Amino acid sequence: MQIIDKIYIDGAFVTPHGSEMFDLFNPATEQVIGQVRLADAQDARDAIAAAKRAFPAFSRTSPRERIDMLKRMHEAVVAKEDELYEAITEEYGAPVSRGRWMAQHASSVLLEAAKVLQDYAFTRRAGSAEVVMQPLGVAGLITPWNSDAGFICGKLAAALAAGCTAVIKPSEMSAIQTRIVTEALHEAGLPAGVFNIVTGRGDIVGAEISSHPDVAKLSFTGSTAVGKTILRTASDTLKRVTLELGGKSPVIVLDDADFDEAVPLAIQAGFMNSGQACIAGTRILVPRQRLAEFETRVQEEVARSQSGDPRDPQTTVGPMVSQKQWERVQRYIGIGIEEGARLIAGGQGRPDGVNAGWFVRPTVFSDVTNDMTIAREEIFGPVLSIIGYRDTEEAIAIANDTSYGLQAYVLSRDRQRAHEVASRIDAGRVLVNTLAHEPAAPFGGFKQSGIGREYGTFGLEAFLEPKSVLGVL
Ligand code: NAD
Repeated sequence: MQIIDKIYIDGAFVTPHGSEMFDLFNPATEQVIGQVRLADAQDARDAIAAAKRAFPAFSRTSPRERIDMLKRMHEAVVAKEDELYEAITEEYGAPVSRGRWMAQHASSVLLEAAKVLQDYAFTRRAGSAEVVMQPLGVAGLITPWNSDAGFICGKLAAALAAGCTAVIKPSEMSAIQTRIVTEALHEAGLPAGVFNIVTGRGDIVGAEISSHPDVAKLSFTGSTAVGKTILRTASDTLKRVTLELGGKSPVIVLDDADFDEAVPLAIQAGFMNSGQACIAGTRILVPRQRLAEFETRVQEEVARSQSGDPRDPQTTVGPMVSQKQWERVQRYIGIGIEEGARLIAGGQGRPDGVNAGWFVRPTVFSDVTNDMTIAREEIFGPVLSIIGYRDTEEAIAIANDTSYGLQAYVLSRDRQRAHEVASRIDAGRVLVNTLAHEPAAPFGGFKQSGIGREYGTFGLEAFLEPKSVLGVL
C-alpha cells in the first residue's frame, strides 16, 4: 500500500493544502494499492505563483542551456525506467510490450524536444522586421491516465524547450506513475519553480489552472467534453490553448489489400493500448465484395489475442483502467447489439475464466452503419466496428463522416493509390500500411479531435508567440 502525500512546488516535495485522500487501484485485481492526497485550488495557485516567479530568468536561458536541462531530464527518467514500467503495469495494467514502450517513451520525448531545439531558429527576418519567437509565460499542462508519464514528459519537454515554465495537473488515477516521474525530474536539478506538479481533481485543480490569469498557455490531453469546458474557461483571459482530444479513427482497407498484413494491422490499430487510445482505429472500412473473407480473418486474429493478466507476455489486451471505464465499454457493447450490429467476436462480460479485474472481451461488430452510436462515439475500449463500403469514393466519404479527425489508416498493396486516398482524409495523421510513430512530425486533430499540434517544430511553436521588431535591421 503506497501513500502518496506530497506534491511538487517550487523545486520541493511539499504536503498539499488539500486533504482529500483518493484510492488507487490495480485494475487487474480491483484491489486498492495505494492512496494519494489530492491537491486543491490553493495548491494550484501556489504552483502557478512559483512558475510565475521562475519565468523571467528561465525565459532568458539560452537554447543551449535548455538542451542540457532536457538531456539531464532524459537521463534521470531513463534511470527510473524499470520502476516506471512496474508502476505502469501495477497501476494501469498495460500489457508487457506496451508497458515497456510507455516507460521508454517517457524519456525519449525529452530527447526529441532537445533535438528540435537544436535546429530551431528563434529569430528570423520578415521583410524589414526581425521576428522573434518569444515564450508565452506560465503553461498549464493537463494530462489523462492512458499514458501518464509520456504525456507529462512530452508536454513539459515542449514547454521548457520554448522557455516557458509549467504547472502540470496529471490524472488523479495515475499518482504512482506521477510520483516516479516527479522524483526523476527533480533529480535533473532544474531551477526551482520551473516545473510544478500538482495531482488533484480536474474540476478543482484543473479548473483553477484553466481560469487563472497568470497562466498564459494551456495544453490539454483528454476527452472532447472536458476540452470544450477548458476552451470556454480559457477564453475569459484569452489563453493560448492546445487541445488533444478524442477520435473515431477510420481504417480504410482498400480492395487490393493483402489480408495477411492488413488484418493483423487493423486489429493492432484497434486494440492498441487495450483500446484505451485516442488514435485507435475503431472504424474498419472494408469493401463489400471482400467482407465475408475479412470477417473470417478477423475472427481468427481476435482468437489469437488475449485479454488478461498484463504480466503474461501473451496478453495483448489489458484491463480497463477503472470500473467506470469497464462499465462504459459494457454499455457500448450493449448499444451495438441493440442497434442491430452483428457481433463477430467478443461481447459483454469478462473473458472466459477471468473472475476479477476490469477485463473486457476484445469485441468486433460487423454490419455496422456509420450512423450507429458505436460508429460515432468514442468508446475507449477494445470494441471495433466493421463498416462495408461499395467503392473507394464511398469509403472516403464514410471515413470523413465523423466529428473527429485525429488519425486514419489506409491499407493497400498499392502505395501510390493509398497515398491518394490519404490526401483526401481529414485527419491530423494518416498512416499508410504502418503503425509507426514519427516524433518529428506534428500530431493533433482536425475538427473536434482538437486544436493545435504537438511534437516537433509545431509542438515547440505552440508555446511561443511571434514578436516583430521593426527599425532594428
Ligand atoms: P478527461 O477529459 O476526463 O480528463 C483528462 C484530464 O483533465 C484529467 O487530468 C482530469 O482530471 C482533467 N479534468 C477533468 N475535468 C476538468 C476540468 N473541468 N477542468 C480542467 N481539467 C479537467 O479524460 P480521461 O478520462 O482522463 O482520458 C480519456 C480521454 O482522453 C479520452 O476521451 C481520449 O480520447 C482522450 N485522449 C486523447 C488523447 C489525444 O492525444 N488526443 C490522448 C489520450 C487520451
